[in-house]
Amino acid sequence: MQYISTRNKKNKVSGTEAVVKGLSDEGGLFVPEEFPRLALEEIENLCELDYPSRSAEIIGKFMPELKEKLDSFTEKAYSRFDGDAAPLVKIDDNLYILELWHGPTHAFKDIALTLLPYLMTGSKEQLGHKEKTLILVATSGDTGKAALEGFKDVDGTDVIVFYPQDGVSQMQKLQMTTTTGGNVKVFGINGNFDDAQTAVKKIFTDKETADIIAKYGYNLSSANSINWGRLVPQIAYYFSSYCDMLSGGQIKLGDKVNFCVPSGNFGNILAGYYAKQMGLPVNMLICASNRNNVLTDFISGGEYSVKREFYKTTSPSMDILISSNLERLLFELSGRNDALIAERMEKLKSDGIYSITESELAEMQKSFYAGCAEEDTVFNTVGEYFDEYGYVLDTHTSVAASVYAEYVAATGDETPTVIVSTASPYKFVDDVLAALGEKAGKTTQASLKKLEDLSAMPIPETLGGLFSMPILHKDVIDKSGAKDAVISYCKK
Ligand SMILES: *Cc1c(COP(=O)(O)O)cnc(C)c1O
Repeated sequence: MQYISTRNKKNKVSGTEAVVKGLSDEGGLFVPEEFPRLALEEIENLCELDYPSRSAEIIGKFMPELKEKLDSFTEKAYSRFDGDAAPLVKIDDNLYILELWHGPTHAFKDIALTLLPYLMTGSKEQLGHKEKTLILVATSGDTGKAALEGFKDVDGTDVIVFYPQDGVSQMQKLQMTTTTGGNVKVFGINGNFDDAQTAVKKIFTDKETADIIAKYGYNLSSANSINWGRLVPQIAYYFSSYCDMLSGGQIKLGDKVNFCVPSGNFGNILAGYYAKQMGLPVNMLICASNRNNVLTDFISGGEYSVKREFYKTTSPSMDILISSNLERLLFELSGRNDALIAERMEKLKSDGIYSITESELAEMQKSFYAGCAEEDTVFNTVGEYFDEYGYVLDTHTSVAASVYAEYVAATGDETPTVIVSTASPYKFVDDVLAALGEKAGKTTQASLKKLEDLSAMPIPETLGGLFSMPILHKDVIDKSGAKDAVISYCKK
């Protein structure tokens, strides 16, 4: 299977090249030349498999070059989860929660980032690339730790993470600075997330750095969510949750279901749209945003505008104005018009705004519904789910649950619905406690204990154990020092 760029269809690469390159040369994103289709019987056959095998089947359709190895890749990646990697929990009639946070860092990014290292090394091997890969990550919290956990001790790859020294939560900082592994390095940056991101982008485009690190046998790459290798593992859990409903006798083969997804960079929900393109019986994809509701306005009205205020919310992983993966949806809606996509992305960069046509909007609204939730609603919904179902939502998932309630009120739709849950409530423990009407503990540890007593759900070992782990990464640098830090790392 070939991949083409959203901004120039003539740029074609294989799936393995798409994973290794990350981004097309002219700045577009790689998409499959066409989507593989699964007949209903094939979906039914998936149900007999466990999650790693279901995942390998789906990914194999997109990356046939790696087909022989995928079972062992997914087996290894998902053995790092506590139990099933993507368990579906039924909480009410026609209402399910897909828990994607049982991985090493307790957010849904683990699903892709535990597997990406295998896809990347497998791709390099298939292409005959011998260089070591140095993954650079700028993070506002979740991605950094997920990348560290995914890539640590993986042969032929190293990872360096830059985080804003004072811009991440206590828990997120501890998660990163205690990371073990001989091929990882973590730097605090004096500055905010944008400073970290700018420093990393500068290194990526700096020819001199590339030349110097090439002498030490390294190539640079990135692990952010526009890489095809981060998107493709996410398609699998849409199929898997459908199988779980089927196996449980809750739906019949061919029945449609809804998915409601807490969205930021639009990678998670886009994977659901791709599953639908592949033949999964999906009714509506409900795109849930917090106060940063640029996607809600776009899906409702067809105009994308970043000329708006940016809010910091209690669902920080969704605080985003430019949803990079939306470009891939636009490509499909426009009938794969690469010139038009290039033009709109240029317009977004220069004017901060673009619009789609009426017919594109109508096409989008056949598959997508969008809504947003204010902070007080998000908090109330955490309380309501606990009272009604005895289930504790994290703040991101609560955004989705809030928007789902609004969707049902607006449409009366009774289609079985899966709320995609993206983080463990323990990861955002103080806000979750506040939403449940409880005071935070004196320390984060005390807060964890409090939530454990309340929810009767055990504290994940990897979070509870952080407080007794040695801090291994203490370096803090100015953003101007990032380049030297990278070069010194390669020299070692
Ligand atoms: C990254 C993230 C999201 C947003 O997912 P996108 O794919 O960027 O839309 C939602 N919730 C949590 C907890 C996340 O870490």
